[in-house]
Amino acid sequence: MGRIRVLSDNVANKIAAGEVVERPASVVKELLENSLDAGSTRIQVEIETGGRRLIRITDDGCGMLRDDALLAFERHATSKLHDVKDLNSIATLGFRGEALPSIASVSRLLLETRSPDETTGNRVEIAGGKILHCDEMAAAPGTVITVRDLFFNVPARKKFLRSEQTELAHIASLVTHYSLAHPDKTFLLLNGAAELLHVTPVQTLRERVFQVFGSQVLDELVDLGLREKQMPPRPADMDEGEVPEPRSFMLSGFVSRPQVQKNNRNSVFIFVNGRLIRDRLLLHALSAAYYNLMPHACYPFALLFLDCDAEEVDVNVHPSKTEVRFRHQSFVHDFVRDSIRDQLMESRPAPAFTINPVPPRPTADLQYSEFSQMIADQSAAPSLPDEFEPSAALPATAPEFKLQPVRGPDPRFDFAGPGIDVNAAVRLRVPDTHGPFPTEAFAGGATASLENLRDLRPLGQIHNSFIIAAGRDGLWIIDQHVAHERILFEKVLDQRARGTLEVQRLLMPLVLQLTAEQQIEYARIAGELDGLGFETEPFGQRTIAVKASPAAIGPGDLERVVFEILEITETELRKVSLDDLRRGMAASIACRAAIKINTKLDNAKMEWLLRELAATNYPMACPHGRPIALQYSTREILKAFHRI
Ligand code: ADP
Ligand code: MG
Repeated sequence: MGRIRVLSDNVANKIAAGEVVERPASVVKELLENSLDAGSTRIQVEIETGGRRLIRITDDGCGMLRDDALLAFERHATSKLHDVKDLNSIATLGFRGEALPSIASVSRLLLETRSPDETTGNRVEIAGGKILHCDEMAAAPGTVITVRDLFFNVPARKKFLRSEQTELAHIASLVTHYSLAHPDKTFLLLNGAAELLHVTPVQTLRERVFQVFGSQVLDELVDLGLREKQMPPRPADMDEGEVPEPRSFMLSGFVSRPQVQKNNRNSVFIFVNGRLIRDRLLLHALSAAYYNLMPHACYPFALLFLDCDAEEVDVNVHPSKTEVRFRHQSFVHDFVRDSIRDQLMESRPAPAFTINPVPPRPTADLQYSEFSQMIADQSAAPSLPDEFEPSAALPATAPEFKLQPVRGPDPRFDFAGPGIDVNAAVRLRVPDTHGPFPTEAFAGGATASLENLRDLRPLGQIHNSFIIAAGRDGLWIIDQHVAHERILFEKVLDQRARGTLEVQRLLMPLVLQLTAEQQIEYARIAGELDGLGFETEPFGQRTIAVKASPAAIGPGDLERVVFEILEITETELRKVSLDDLRRGMAASIACRAAIKINTKLDNAKMEWLLRELAATNYPMACPHGRPIALQYSTREILKAFHRI
């Protein structure tokens, strides 16, 4: 007796139906998911001409019994689901029993399979949905599915296929990302004779990320570890007779440091219970985690794995199974946002400079050990004058090298994802494998930490705007305005939470005329304004009087701050939580109150600023997401001078 059964009409009708075979990448996705559901440990994907001529997937999974090999091509035939109740807790990637028949109806398909429970295997040949042959054969346990000439019998569909390169990019991205979800399995992707990806089993996700992307990308990422949160049982959600049990949600994966800023979401990969999905709720939670750390409309790289009880998530909402619906949306949203935000706060990595290569010159005689000794002894060295103008101090012939923080488009993070705009240029990077995992490379803090800010010694300013400071680990440049902004931002939030905000009363109330829209916003957030130290009251038609304000804001800036706050709430934050609204308001106050650029600071002020910055929770980016400090490490300095 086989394992596959045809679903009853009752169940079949409850399944979100639709076309699964849109393009070669969708065939690969369905077949790959089947191999994973079959418990395979080694999956090989072969592609020719972007999947049009050939797609072949070979796995070592449970195979199919003789009776099942034919039944698998019936519509709604599946071994993964039996009755309506199972739809509430789907634990496999597939469940609709539609992929194989759909693929077989638009291609020439060959299935070769053997279950370890049987001594012989079976092969089934189908073209355009018609069974041509069905024979016994000798085969290794597992399944090989070969799909040739996709859409050979649907010329209209064939015409709309994208270029070979685009399809290949989608397929590569798909295999790469499923390989990230299963570090314990082997994945091999071949394009003709070329090996695009080959990863062998490893113990941890971190090692798999290294295999796939290499150490440089890994350096830019923050490991979320394993975050877990329990949701207490809610009687309202329970069916009668159900025993209350807390629900557990787990999040793990990697996110990029805020300096890695992408202008689209193609580098965001979210898996829910092992399924690669695109979900608005989770994408929003991710953006919310970076709120105030990254400019608006920028996105990080993210590889997130959310795991929860199958009953907490409905995967049967979209035919291609790429969308899900959570039973407790706001709990999931806040859990994901807070987990990521907390980890970013904890890791506090600093952006580093990158230096354009300088032509090599003979290595000088000063050894690294001597040099590091000099750096260690630097407190004894004479200090530079307060005002430090490097352009004037350097001879005209000095070699020029450009310094820039690591941000903006970064080609290492460009790879296409499923569901991306296929019209956009797809830049694919399918990296080589990188040999064994060098654990020692990650043992020490290769990444500069802003913890080191505590030990910095200010040397002076450039252009009365940027503080130059020397530290044990090299040279630092700190943007005085954004640094102060970060300090004030956190202070305002903290004082607001503790009710200790300093307020100044105005001698004369400031009367502000509002537009109709601003008036509506004002009515909505008046309480919040009050909480932040703005004492305001309506004063006739569309006019308010401000009688007191946070002490940090100078009288000249007050009007702008109030209008700025009304504007934030009017636009981006309308749908955002109270917490984010407060953060937006605090950011606005901090920006107006912070030391401006083009302001001369004496040594004591600079020292104070560095000390306060080091004490903030997140000294790496201003509330609007701009970087605060750049580091030019001793190693980079030595490299630039060809001493190492
Ligand atoms: P679904 O995955 O939704 O069940 P499919 O049409 O993709 O539907 O597959 C039909 C059935 O064929 C599966 O339920 C499974 O029993 C069997 N099957 C498909 N691919 C494999 C495979 N690689 N190894 C073992 N069994 C498979
Ligand atoms: Mg399937």
